[in-house]
Amino acid sequence: MTKKHLLLFKYGGNAMTNQPLKKQVLKNICGLKEKGYQVVIVHGGGPFIQQTLEEVHIDSEFIDGQRKTTPEAMEYVEMALKGKVNGSLISIINAIGNKAVGLSGKDGQIVTAKKRLHQQMKNGKTEMVDLGQVGDVASVDVTLIELLLENDFIPVITCIASDKHGNDYNINGDLFAGHIAGALSAEQYIILTDVDGLMLDKDNPASMIPKLKVAEINHLKEIKCIQGGMIPKMDSCEIALEKGAKLARIINGTVPEQISALFENQQSGTIITA
Ligand code: ADP
Ligand code: MG
Repeated sequence: MTKKHLLLFKYGGNAMTNQPLKKQVLKNICGLKEKGYQVVIVHGGGPFIQQTLEEVHIDSEFIDGQRKTTPEAMEYVEMALKGKVNGSLISIINAIGNKAVGLSGKDGQIVTAKKRLHQQMKNGKTEMVDLGQVGDVASVDVTLIELLLENDFIPVITCIASDKHGNDYNINGDLFAGHIAGALSAEQYIILTDVDGLMLDKDNPASMIPKLKVAEINHLKEIKCIQGGMIPKMDSCEIALEKGAKLARIINGTVPEQISALFENQQSGTIITA
């Protein structure tokens, strides 16, 4: 069987602002499937995790932008991501008329996790801090994803995985997606976020960088152009390209037209290549 062009979309929680918008985004993604592309969706859901933890009165401590996660909090993270966010994406895609399958990295051992060892700078010294159930990708196995794609399903995967002992971890959605995009040798790894692309000056939309080479990322980090939520996105592009994806790009997931426009030769967002 000839392998169809594969697109992996990373759908960020901050771009899932309302139900009609989510439907429009997923409609445009399904439209690409109609055109003959194979489609995989990977998603996070930071705002939904926050909401769920607040509902059960669990306070979150953030260390260098990462949520310290107790085993108890981890259960609610899974409820929010796999239950609420993933379940809702599946319902919408099915209603559009496609067949979606909701997964986390645990299913079919798509992703095996390892505990993240985080170093923090304190009074000029580096110290190890325990972030609890915050993990990194240890390995990827795309067998299940390929099986689903061959049978015309749309895999929708959220960024949770277990380690080899069965402990669950929350993994940054961007890094999780980048590893899978690489392992699938995706033709395009497309990050849908809440800004138009990578800006040279984060607060000036006119400063968007249309094209970028992986080798330029380090410099952009040093000059503090890449900050906060954009750091793991750029790291994930580097991982995806290094491991086999052909092209990475960042577009605005709150402007659904940008998705279909990509394949009508219209330029939008930031393109990253090796
Ligand atoms: P998501 O839910 O899609 O992961 P994040 O909030 O984690 O969204 O990441 C996107 C955010 O990254 C933007 O809203 C913006 O505030 C921030 N950001 C940091 N540096 C930049 C930059 N150079 N260009 C654009 N956005 C940036
Ligand atoms: Mg993010």
